[in-house]
Amino acid sequence: MKRREEMNFFERIYVIEVAKGTLITFTRLVRNLLLHVLHEVGIRRHVPAAATIQYPDERRVYPARFRGRHRLTLKPNGDIKCTACFLCATACPARCIYIEAAEHEDPKVEKFPRRYEIDTLLCIYCGYCVEACPVDAIRMDTGLHPEVYPPDPRLFIEDKETLMMRSRQLEDLGPEQLFQDHMKKMKAIEKHPFTADVP
Ligand code: SF4
Ligand code: SF4
Repeated sequence: MKRREEMNFFERIYVIEVAKGTLITFTRLVRNLLLHVLHEVGIRRHVPAAATIQYPDERRVYPARFRGRHRLTLKPNGDIKCTACFLCATACPARCIYIEAAEHEDPKVEKFPRRYEIDTLLCIYCGYCVEACPVDAIRMDTGLHPEVYPPDPRLFIEDKETLMMRSRQLEDLGPEQLFQDHMKKMKAIEKHPFTADVP
């Protein structure tokens, strides 16, 4: 970028520049205000009113590599893929993965996680667990971001069943419907933070 060293006379007295800046700000204010009013009555909704995303009513389309909420992937027969090798828990810098390994009744399967929990309050969504997994048993491709729950700390700990269910939901509903359901739940929680039915 070429930097201008010298200001001309009009720039040096500032008044004109201040007036120009004020005019730009005021023009944007009026434009955005008008667009917001038009949007309210259903007109010109395709024209964004401001740079701000009116979350949760509007959303940015997340990139394909967005690291969303975790899921534990499943075998074709619906069993958990995880072999309880602890590599994800070892790689996790936040120490928020808890695994309890157990012997599987099928002699062909060496181990499986009897318990698998992620404390999402501690998780920093770095994705190291996904990178570390040698069997593609954990993914963060749900496109969902963490939810705001009512103040029940237990709901922040996602257990094995929740993480497996998310894989089934993703397969059954697809990413878009999963996201819409998630947003519906978030709006319900926003309206009734203490009474909303949170599964
Ligand atoms: S995303 Fe990072 S912090 Fe969260 S569970 Fe995985 S490794 Fe741990
Ligand atoms: S999710 Fe992957 S890395 Fe973690 S315990 Fe299971 S198999 Fe090992």
